[in-house]
Amino acid sequence: MYLKSIEVQGFKSFANRIRFDFHEGITGIVGPNGSGKSNVADAVRWVLGEQRVKQLRGGTMQDVIFSGTENRRALSYASVAITLNNADHRLPVEYEEVTVTRKLYRSGESEYLLNGTSCRLKDINEMFYDTGIGKEGYSIIGQGQIDRILSGKPEERRELFDEAAGIVKFKRRKNLSLKK
Ligand code: ATP
Ligand code: MG
Repeated sequence: MYLKSIEVQGFKSFANRIRFDFHEGITGIVGPNGSGKSNVADAVRWVLGEQRVKQLRGGTMQDVIFSGTENRRALSYASVAITLNNADHRLPVEYEEVTVTRKLYRSGESEYLLNGTSCRLKDINEMFYDTGIGKEGYSIIGQGQIDRILSGKPEERRELFDEAAGIVKFKRRKNLSLKK
């Protein structure tokens, strides 16, 4: 499985619709300060369901919507879509290619889509459990995160091993059934 593309529109500094294509192997994103490199990582975090505005370096969730510049009006919604090659079916769905889309309107209305079909955030989270992908996964290492892993509490470090070992989904299910 690998990340094939990221498509952004109206997300942070990306007013126009832009598609970043990736291939197998390593891709570096370079550019001057403030040109939007971290915004690309934020887009991936966001489409995977990040709900904590601080993690997205904003004050409110609407701050991810393009807020306009001197010569360009603000936009009314933000949209991010990532496409993963799933030929090896590491994601437990039948599709060879999986596109996850998240949209947010200024009104606060939002939606998630899985291969173009409306779904719940829960469905997306469940699909990514134990894959190492996901907003909590170790596939996105933010600034300061290495520090947190090294100097974190034993329970926090344990979570990382649980995810790597692939037992998070069983723990979640157990907790859910205990609550019922
Ligand atoms: P550095 O090299 O300093 O880390 P960077 O390339 O990672 O820079 P980003 O942090 O990704 O840069 O981009 C910051 C830019 O994004 C700023 O110019 C900021 O104004 C712009 N930006 C963030 N949110 C929005 C928004 N909602 N609307 C318009 N522009 C935005
Ligand atoms: Mg940056």
